[in-house]
Amino acid sequence: MPTDSSWVYAPAPEDSSHVEIKKHYQLFIDGKFRDAADGRTFDTQNPANEAHLSEVAFSGEADVDTAVKAARRAYNEVWCPMRPADRGKYLYRIARILQERSREFAVTESLDGGKPIKESRDIDIPLAAAHFFYYAGWADKLDYAFPGRSPSSLGVAGQIIPWNFPLLMAAWKIAPALACGNTVVLKPAETTPLTAMKLAEVFQEAGLPAGVVNILPGDGSTGAALVQHPDIDKIAFTGSTEVGKRIQQAIAGTAKKATLELGGKAANIILDDAPLHQAVEGIINGIFFNQGHVCCAGSRLLVQEGVYDSVVTLLKDRMETLRVGDPLDKNTDIGAINSKAQQDIIQGYLELGEKEGAEIHQPNCTLPSKGYWCLPTLFLNATQSHRIVQEEIFGPVLAVQTFRTPDEAIEMANNTPYGLSAGVWTDKGSRIFNFTKRLRAGVVWANTYNQFDPSSPFGGFKESGFGREGGLHGLEPYLRLD
Ligand code: ADP
Repeated sequence: MPTDSSWVYAPAPEDSSHVEIKKHYQLFIDGKFRDAADGRTFDTQNPANEAHLSEVAFSGEADVDTAVKAARRAYNEVWCPMRPADRGKYLYRIARILQERSREFAVTESLDGGKPIKESRDIDIPLAAAHFFYYAGWADKLDYAFPGRSPSSLGVAGQIIPWNFPLLMAAWKIAPALACGNTVVLKPAETTPLTAMKLAEVFQEAGLPAGVVNILPGDGSTGAALVQHPDIDKIAFTGSTEVGKRIQQAIAGTAKKATLELGGKAANIILDDAPLHQAVEGIINGIFFNQGHVCCAGSRLLVQEGVYDSVVTLLKDRMETLRVGDPLDKNTDIGAINSKAQQDIIQGYLELGEKEGAEIHQPNCTLPSKGYWCLPTLFLNATQSHRIVQEEIFGPVLAVQTFRTPDEAIEMANNTPYGLSAGVWTDKGSRIFNFTKRLRAGVVWANTYNQFDPSSPFGGFKESGFGREGGLHGLEPYLRLD
């Protein structure tokens, strides 16, 4: 909390008494919950206070094989032959149950992942339900989506997701796969399995036929076993570029299709005619409100020289008022870092940035004594060759650079291995079009940042991956188009 007492808010904790977190969660295979074949388990904890939350079954190779077989059987016998409109009905039902249980999901997401309740409550869970609603609508309209083609499903999809938006990433992956007639084996991330296991309960409650979605908590070895399973038709992965490359190597020479949504190092560009207060709020939202745990986070800031001093003053002032602390508090802006491992990575980059010669700035704020935390951080005077400018940090760390001309800004923005997203802040529409045409990024926001909608496609250029998720484009990776 900020130390200046005029900014101290009274605690406003979200009620969590209605949320049941079981002592033990099992794998979800063929419509039933069961323990791992070899009985292995792992623990999941609350990163805000290091408290144990639950013990979760750990899926090994044998479980992957059982789940893929169940998904194949469900594909052949039930889901593929089903009338598309009936598949849509299941998706609508799932969306409605998610809405009904949204508070429970939001609290669970914040407990397991460390993100502020206002983010899980207002963004993650409503958007997850919206994805199921949106793709439910496409289920019986695929012929209209691709006129003159004959869309048909692929078979069994193996889906691997990260820890930054656990339920939302599951919805992004499962909803289009099912709408297109495929069945699924999903592996959630090792630090955030809980909402995926609650989603399995939703599938049961919705009466989704057994085997249509199977959920296998585990770690990278579970993901690797899923990728290598010979009876998988398609891999959908969101995570690091490093693992994405490993997955591409593993499926090279096979008939498996893949979409990979990988890292990012997005530039937010402030031109000298931009509304500065609005821009600074957008920059803060783009990198700090989510602990920087977003692959499309605006982790670089390029400011036109004439407004640099004003922008930095506004940024520093606003950073003093950010509230860092209990993720379940409704006033919290910045929650906990997802894990000790991630905290160590971020800490390494903070030390590196100073060694490289950038000037570090953090607000005057004390952090909770337990749990994993990082103060929002600015690196001023960063240069293009600094590793803090080139590499994804995945934390609340913003590298600030200046530029003179729009051409220079575009060159700097494009000069990283990534190309997932970017932002531009200016008063002039013509300048926006100049930037959106020339920035090599899958998503470019103008005078806003981090806005999502199920009807908008999302995906990267260069080492940020390939394939699109969301919108009509998000159907294509799950279809054969003859
Ligand atoms: P992050 O840095 O976001 O944790 P990772 O790429 O390490 O990203 O992890 C994203 C997901 O990929 C997680 O569910 C993780 O368990 C899984 N994963 C890690 N290694 C592999 C691998 N070799 N093959 C398949 N999945 C993997």
